[in-house]
Amino acid sequence: MRFDIVTIFPGMVAEAAKTGVVGRAIERGLVTVKAHDLRDFTTDRHRVVDDVPYGGGPGMVLKPEPLFRALDAIAAESGRKPLVLLTSPQGTRLTQAVVERLSREPQLVLLCGRYEGVDERVRSRVDEEISIGDYVLSGGELAALVVVDAVARLVPDVVGDEESVAHDSFSRGLLDFPHYTRPAEMSAGGEEQATLKVPDVLMSGHHAEIRRWRKREALLRR
Ligand code: SAH
Repeated sequence: MRFDIVTIFPGMVAEAAKTGVVGRAIERGLVTVKAHDLRDFTTDRHRVVDDVPYGGGPGMVLKPEPLFRALDAIAAESGRKPLVLLTSPQGTRLTQAVVERLSREPQLVLLCGRYEGVDERVRSRVDEEISIGDYVLSGGELAALVVVDAVARLVPDVVGDEESVAHDSFSRGLLDFPHYTRPAEMSAGGEEQATLKVPDVLMSGHHAEIRRWRKREALLRR
C-alpha cells in the first residue's frame, strides 16, 4: 500500500512515519510513505505556496496550482488514478469503518492544508474530505499521519498478530477487553498501600473461562 502526502512540512511527516509499526512496515516493504514538499511544485523564485484570500479577511490560503501540479505528478508517477483525500475539519469523520474502507485502496493521496485551508477549487480534484474529529488543527499533517497509522495497521502482515487486529476496539462492534502483564501483584502506591492484582481467571489457564471473561469485560465497556 502506498501513501503520498502533500505538505509544506515534509520533514515532519517523514520523521513521524519512521516510528513503530508503520516504520517497520516501511522497512519490510509492506507500505510506502512518500512526503511531497508542496514548494517543489511552485514555479516562482520564492516558492510561494500561499496567498491572501479574495474578498478580504484574515489569514492566508494555500494556492491551487501547486496542489494541482503535485496531484498530476503523483498520478503520472504511479500510472493510475489514486484516491485523493483532503484533510479538513469539514470532512467525513474518520471511524474504524472508514479506515477499513480506505485500507482496501492500493494508494491514498493525502493533501495537508495549512492557514485558512486550501483554495476551494482544489476540491474539484478531491475524492473525499476526511476529518479526524470536531476540532481545528493548525495543519493537516497530524490528520494525515493519523490516517496513515490507522490504515497501515490493517494492511496484511503489518501488525504481526492478525488476531490482535481482529480483537481491537471497534473491529467487532465491541471495545477491546482489558489487558494485563506481569507482575501479578503490585502496590498502588500512595498512602493506602492497596494492592493492584491481575484477575485470577487470567492466570487460571482455563481458556474457555478466559474467553468468557474477556467477552463479558468487552461488553461492559460499551
Ligand atoms: N478554516 C478552516 C480550518 C483550517 S485549519 C475551517 O474552519 O474549516 C488548517 C488545515 O488543518 C486544514 O486545511 C486541514 O488540512 C487541517 N485540519 C484542521 N482541522 C482538521 C481536522 N479536524 N481534521 C483533519 N484536518 C484538519
